[in-house]
Amino acid sequence: MQVLKFGGSSVAHSDSIKRICSLLEKKPKGKYAIVVSALGNITDQLIQCGQLASERNNVYKNIIEKIKIRHFHIIRELFPIYYQSNLISWIKKNINDLESLCNGIFQVKELSKRTLDKIMSFGELFSSFLIAKKLKKSGLNAIFKDSRDLIITDSKFGCAKVDFIKSNHHILQFFRKEKSEYVVLPGFIGSNFQNQTTTLGRGGSDYTAAILASAISASLLEIWTDVSGMMTANPKMVHQAFPIKEISYEEAMELSHFGAKVIYPPTIKPAMKKNIPIKIKNTFYPIDPGTLIHISNKKTKNRQPVTGISGIQNLALLTLKIRLIICISMYSKRLFKVLSREKINVIFITQNSSENFITTGIHEMDIIKAKKVINSEFSQEIYQKYIDPLKIEYDLCIIALVGYNMKNIHGPSGKMFSSLGKNRIKVRAISQGPTEKNISAVIQKKDFKKALNTLHETFFEKNPKQINLFICRVGKVENKLLEKIDQKKNYFLEKLKLKMRIIGLSNNIQRIYFDNKNGIHLSPCKSNFMNKKGLKMKIYSLMEKKWKFNLRNSLFLDNTAIEKITGSSDYNHYQKLKTISSYLLKYPFLFKTNVGVYIPVISTINDLINIGDKIKKIDVIFLNSEKIKNISMSNHYDYFQN
Ligand code: ASP
Repeated sequence: MQVLKFGGSSVAHSDSIKRICSLLEKKPKGKYAIVVSALGNITDQLIQCGQLASERNNVYKNIIEKIKIRHFHIIRELFPIYYQSNLISWIKKNINDLESLCNGIFQVKELSKRTLDKIMSFGELFSSFLIAKKLKKSGLNAIFKDSRDLIITDSKFGCAKVDFIKSNHHILQFFRKEKSEYVVLPGFIGSNFQNQTTTLGRGGSDYTAAILASAISASLLEIWTDVSGMMTANPKMVHQAFPIKEISYEEAMELSHFGAKVIYPPTIKPAMKKNIPIKIKNTFYPIDPGTLIHISNKKTKNRQPVTGISGIQNLALLTLKIRLIICISMYSKRLFKVLSREKINVIFITQNSSENFITTGIHEMDIIKAKKVINSEFSQEIYQKYIDPLKIEYDLCIIALVGYNMKNIHGPSGKMFSSLGKNRIKVRAISQGPTEKNISAVIQKKDFKKALNTLHETFFEKNPKQINLFICRVGKVENKLLEKIDQKKNYFLEKLKLKMRIIGLSNNIQRIYFDNKNGIHLSPCKSNFMNKKGLKMKIYSLMEKKWKFNLRNSLFLDNTAIEKITGSSDYNHYQKLKTISSYLLKYPFLFKTNVGVYIPVISTINDLINIGDKIKKIDVIFLNSEKIKNISMSNHYDYFQN
């Protein structure tokens, strides 16, 4: 038996539901449990109804009307006329129940978690009921089964805990008796011991499918969604991300814990326990292979060290500094106990070796609660100055490299931190679990996208490397340079493995300026230069843009006259700049100049000095002595010596 789950976007419209039917028709004969989400967006709208009603806002009625019309529309598009009226009355009856619930909330001005669960359950109930009917109408032997009869939970409304012993018993009993080949069930919902409706947490339909698969020891669990599998990174952040073909349960758990949205994190455990492979597939591109999540492959030699990169934005670090260590384990224990009591999810933990700092990373939204409970838990010790009041750092995020094979290979962490460092991404804290499946780093929120792209490039993109160019002052010579970059695009790509992208150009004479985060097309840009179009700017605007865009592998080419001062004015000035660049900024300071018929004089002289030659004298013929009379020869002599 197989379990298939279809997410909200896969059941959002009549077309997508038809797609599911044809997909199921093509499946080999056998028994299938089909778990479905609510039509895309319906759960959000149901929550909105409850909230508006509790605020005595009548708009909830309009939303209920919209929900009703959307389902009627689906019925009209999926079923022949003679079949529609029964389904429409079924929806109407349930919509009336939903409306009565919301009217009640409107009267009492209060929305309890229990009532919200009941309200949310309508979404999955509607979709699964209609899909079961559609499958039946298409000639498949399908029935609808309410998951609330099978999945028994505690009474933690909003995110109920499953009673596996009871649920497994009910599920097994039901499927043993049921003869239909296709059983369609609503995801996300269950019921408590008092038969009240509960939900399994947002995105919980995946979990429903995994609970069923595990109870009946299914041969496969398929999660059908709107992407072609688990990706190497979030494709919204990293355009070059691609689907991962195979991944172990543990890696998938790590990636989903660290923000990979494709699967609801608790889903993996029940499947893993029974060794049931999970396949993530794209409903809209079913021929795409998708991702197979299964038992870790022992033959890891040929596998990539890193399987995926993930991250969570909006992180805060909480640091507890213990001045007097009386009993450290008690401090840690108490800290984690209060956080867990308040249901604050701890994403990251690190502790220094002398054990007087404990740092934890939590979601920014939990800061106020965490600060209050931690300071109150340790109020006595803070008062006695054994402990400092909680230190909170904001505007952070966490990025994680995940890979089963990292432990067998030297260097992933070195590579990770050196590529972050090269791109000037400051690492605030680091953590690596003992299993070495995950190396995570806390960095500044503003660097999130840049870090993901940098790491993706380092670990997944063999070639080419993206270079982002900012060119300040495009004059005659630089125009030629632009032409060359354009002409030699393929050469850079094939021979040097560099993908040149011009992000910003400026012309400081006309103060014309063009920038585009995704790269500039040169020809329209050049005509803009010629026609003197573009924005007026200050001389430093392009540099400011470079900082603001915060792109990896950025190069800034300064062609302004000021740039010449760097290497040709006062020697102290030159030395100061060199120190700033190499010691403070850690940027290489490179330059080149030619004399005569393009003789590369600097590198030639440097080579000579490097093999022990000494400069005794420099002869210069000035062609325009007026302009350069301020440059002293002794400066230049020192310049080469250094
Ligand atoms: N419909 C629920 C939600 O939107 C559950 C799910 O789709 O998995 O969270």
